[in-house]
Amino acid sequence: MKYDVIIIGGGAAGLGAALYSARYNLKTLIIAKEFGGTGNIAHKVDNWIGEPGISGMALMDKFVKHIDDYDITRVESEVTNISKLSDNSFSVKSDKIYHGKSIIYALGMKHKELGILGEKEFAGKGVHYCYTCDGPIYSKKRIAVIGGGDSAGLGSLFLSEYGTKIYTLVRKTMMRAEPITREQMENNKKIKIMFENEANEFYGDKLLKGIKLKNGRKLEVDAVFIEIGHVPLSNLAKKLNVTIKSNGFIPVDNQQKTNIKGFCAAGDITTRHTLKQFITSAAEGSVAAESIYNFVKNNKW
Ligand code: NDP
Repeated sequence: MKYDVIIIGGGAAGLGAALYSARYNLKTLIIAKEFGGTGNIAHKVDNWIGEPGISGMALMDKFVKHIDDYDITRVESEVTNISKLSDNSFSVKSDKIYHGKSIIYALGMKHKELGILGEKEFAGKGVHYCYTCDGPIYSKKRIAVIGGGDSAGLGSLFLSEYGTKIYTLVRKTMMRAEPITREQMENNKKIKIMFENEANEFYGDKLLKGIKLKNGRKLEVDAVFIEIGHVPLSNLAKKLNVTIKSNGFIPVDNQQKTNIKGFCAAGDITTRHTLKQFITSAAEGSVAAESIYNFVKNNKW
């Protein structure tokens, strides 16, 4: 059996693409390691219009329920390879091999690591990458957050509901988090923003005891959450000779098309929007579905 489109990735972009593909009457398969993707770990989403204050998990759950109303095949499994066949269709290796006339690649990004001493040693023992998952275990503890973007800002606010003190280590003289988040941090007595501070090493015994900073000082904390951004998961596309920028993102045109015929990309993985949000990702997914419809049904690329 050959699908009209195989969507790889189950976040806002993939699910948005699936909804539109089904509404375009395309025979649709969506495969993801985990439906909801990184959206599942967003503590509170205040910028999805119409759903103020909803949790990422609840929003993603609504997305999945919505696409389940349609005739879409949904497979929860990791994709390990994509190849192009001689008739220009695609083969996707996952729990088994699937065939599709086209691909929408919406794998998004994964957490970036600092790459400093002690990071691997204390991973899960005080060093963490998901504040919504692991933050609540540090109730009444001292916590550090590393990073200056929205993830670090929202993470610090979330963790202030649990810890006694939150130290946000920002390497520059300013944060790039949304102004409203910065303001909430400044007004939160538990949060101390430490500008021009960088971690050099994590130390401890069996568990993390603190951070050695680049300026030679030590910061004693029970936990540290690393929120320094994400790296695009573009490796599978790279193997297929999809053009990838040096920073790992996939350039697409305003119809989400890549350099490979029948292969669109959507969401955080693309260069299209610097504003990487649920709303931009879902929008890119819908545009990709339209391009794939024109390709599959009208042979237009
Ligand atoms: P960003 O890339 O926006 O920010 C990363 C931060 O980490 C920057 O402050 C950067 O510093 C810092 N950093 C990077 N490397 C290091 C390092 N080695 N040591 C110390 N600091 C480092 O990542 P985010 O995960 O915060 O956000 C990614 C995207 O997702 C953004 O577009 C953001 O708006 C979006 N987002 C949206 C949310 C929402 O709307 N609910 C929630 C979370 C994220 P510097 O500034 O010096 O480069």
